[in-house]
Amino acid sequence: MRTVLLGPPGAGKGTQATRLADRYGVPAISTGGIFRANVGGGTELGRQAKEFMDAGLLVPDSVTNAMVRDRLAEPDVNPGFVLDGYPRNPDQAIDLDEMLANLGVTLDVVLEITADFDEVTRRLLGRAAIEGRADDTEPVIRRRLEEYSLKTAPLTAFYEGRGLLARADGLGDIDDVTSRLVAAIEARVSS
Ligand code: ADP
Repeated sequence: MRTVLLGPPGAGKGTQATRLADRYGVPAISTGGIFRANVGGGTELGRQAKEFMDAGLLVPDSVTNAMVRDRLAEPDVNPGFVLDGYPRNPDQAIDLDEMLANLGVTLDVVLEITADFDEVTRRLLGRAAIEGRADDTEPVIRRRLEEYSLKTAPLTAFYEGRGLLARADGLGDIDDVTSRLVAAIEARVSS
């Protein structure tokens, strides 16, 4: 099961990626999570990513693509993966295609979790109070949403054109969202 989750910051990609990964027995690969772990661990990769993350901007493709390429080469990815937060612009999508072609595999489905920007802003500001993520402040959230609209949202049309896109409403109960995503996966993977 190889899937990509798309959707604005705060749509619930991270939560749903973990749930889908557990259900299908594949790793959830979160580029934001890997970056945060590296920032926390004070690595060179973290040092390269931090200023962009703090500003709500995408980390440069040269850094991000190499990191994903390495991660996808690890053996636990053989049965599949749930990609959360990658690809995030058209060049990353092209790079992902190349990585998968080299591995001799293809995507099964691309899942877009939809949620309007007012709702996700509310959620992220609520999360800031609990988790204290450095990029969950109002100006940085606004920038992340702009980055999403400009660079990531066009990927839905890209994958729709390939017949890979399925959409699921990200509003409502977390379990209900998971059920919608599973239904979308089953509809694709069994067809
Ligand atoms: P969110 O989707 O809520 O913004 P993420 O954890 O996915 O949170 O990403 C946090 C930050 O990590 C992004 O704002 C960006 O700086 C960086 N990042 C994550 N994934 C990518 C990516 N594919 N390309 C470039 N930067 C990324």
